[in-house]
Amino acid sequence: MTRSSDINAGTSTNEGAAAEEIRWQDVLTPEEFAVLRQGATERPFTGEYNDETAAGMYQCRACGADLFPSNTKFASHCGWPSFYAPLAEDRVRYIRDTSMGMERVEVRCANCDSHMGHVFSGEGYGTPTDQRYCINSISLKLNTDAADS
Ligand SMILES: [Zn+2]
Repeated sequence: MTRSSDINAGTSTNEGAAAEEIRWQDVLTPEEFAVLRQGATERPFTGEYNDETAAGMYQCRACGADLFPSNTKFASHCGWPSFYAPLAEDRVRYIRDTSMGMERVEVRCANCDSHMGHVFSGEGYGTPTDQRYCINSISLKLNTDAADS
């Protein structure tokens, strides 16, 4: 069993942010916490899902929300799992990120506000949306039981 599926994050409204951070540190590994809750980026070509082609639903590693169907994953060769669209636009939220001297759009889980990665547009990958959701493997959990039909 995964720990993440047991977490009912994002549904409680009467808990302070500080308490929530402590809870995340309890349930996530230090590596997961650094990416999901502190916005770090895993090193390219190291993530477990970089070359994954199995069918299923990529879920938020922290809260288990369905985020990216495997049929939107494509081989971008950028070093991180890449998707051309989320399951639905309301599954993710976008934040303008000007760190590292670039203007990028951060992608977070809409349910628990965990950091997923960034989205880039107009790169010419030839996908239906011409977008690349560049997502950390460690932010995701592939559920192969939830294969979309
Ligand atoms: Zn989440």
